[in-house]
Amino acid sequence: MTNKKLVVITGASSGFGMAMAQEFSKDGYPLLLLARRVDKMQALNLPNALCREVDVTDKAGFEAAVREAEAQYGKTDLLVNNAGVMLLGDIASQDSAEWKTMLDVNVMGVMNGMQIVMADMRERKSGTIINLSSIAGIQPFGNHAAYCASKYGVRGLTQTARMEMSPHNVRVIAVEPGAVTTELLGHTTDKNIIDGYNQWKNAVGAVNITAEDVARTIKFSYELPQSVLLREIVITDTMQD
Ligand code: NDP
Repeated sequence: MTNKKLVVITGASSGFGMAMAQEFSKDGYPLLLLARRVDKMQALNLPNALCREVDVTDKAGFEAAVREAEAQYGKTDLLVNNAGVMLLGDIASQDSAEWKTMLDVNVMGVMNGMQIVMADMRERKSGTIINLSSIAGIQPFGNHAAYCASKYGVRGLTQTARMEMSPHNVRVIAVEPGAVTTELLGHTTDKNIIDGYNQWKNAVGAVNITAEDVARTIKFSYELPQSVLLREIVITDTMQD
């Protein structure tokens, strides 16, 4: 029986989320893994890991999964709001449905997650929430208008939540990674933009930073004492400008 507390990770079916699931599991944390492709999470075959098919924009479904995991493993001590989509596009021509998807998943999904765990963390005077923003939440990039809007939004809402939660001894952390190769770019529908992005990555040098590097850094920030808060973590490949 582990004495580790429950870690909830959204978007655990690929990329950073999957790497985090593996990193935390290695050290015996009980996990709730959430995403739409539940088969990918189950295939990890991790012990003490509840995998649930949840769309983070569905607050009721998200909350039901968290309560189910808490009944099994105890209260959520860490929530990582990691699920996200990046649909790059030219603002002059991009289908507005893509903007809405990004704002719904990247912003509303994070707000949903925070609301599900915050009241209880506040009452217990303990807990950590880690939200995935992006370097695109700090600086602009071409064809990133709606994605930047969502990630600047996550950064702003995370800073606000930190102010609100710090007096209750709850940590709220924003993570701002640079480019890391995952499935993220693959969802952009404009092939020219994908090609341009890859050219940019090649121009700055091979992107050697990995999802595992990001996962280890996030785990490090969580495992610091509750009295120590890394408010923002900007993590990039050394060669990214
Ligand atoms: P991936 O595309 O590899 O993973 C995204 C994850 O989010 C998947 O598990 C996907 O699962 C899940 N997801 C997407 N939509 C939903 C939804 N509606 N409900 C639940 N889960 C959803 O990307 P990354 O691992 O790279 O990205 C993780 C986070 O990091 C994102 O927020 C991203 O914006 C951010 N980020 C990534 C960077 C990078 O370069 N890779 C840089 C900076 C930030 P499924 O499809 O099964 O639902």
